[in-house]
Amino acid sequence: MRAEYGPSGPSDGVKTWHISHDGSSVALCGRDLSPASAVQDPEMWSRSPDLNCHTCGALFLRETPYMPAEHE
Ligand SMILES: [Zn+2]
Repeated sequence: MRAEYGPSGPSDGVKTWHISHDGSSVALCGRDLSPASAVQDPEMWSRSPDLNCHTCGALFLRETPYMPAEHE
């Protein structure tokens, strides 16, 4: 997962979490993210669903069907 920040950068806080492949700064949804932006474990995807990029989520789940969409 890679962070997309608000207009002022990291000081705005994370606007959206996207998913990118290891070593890539381009999200699955095609958005170009800063290589310097924060990354976090895919396990965190279910922690803050409001901030998740829905396109990335859908694409990621299609790539790795064993990844649980959400925890009960
Ligand atoms: Zn995305």
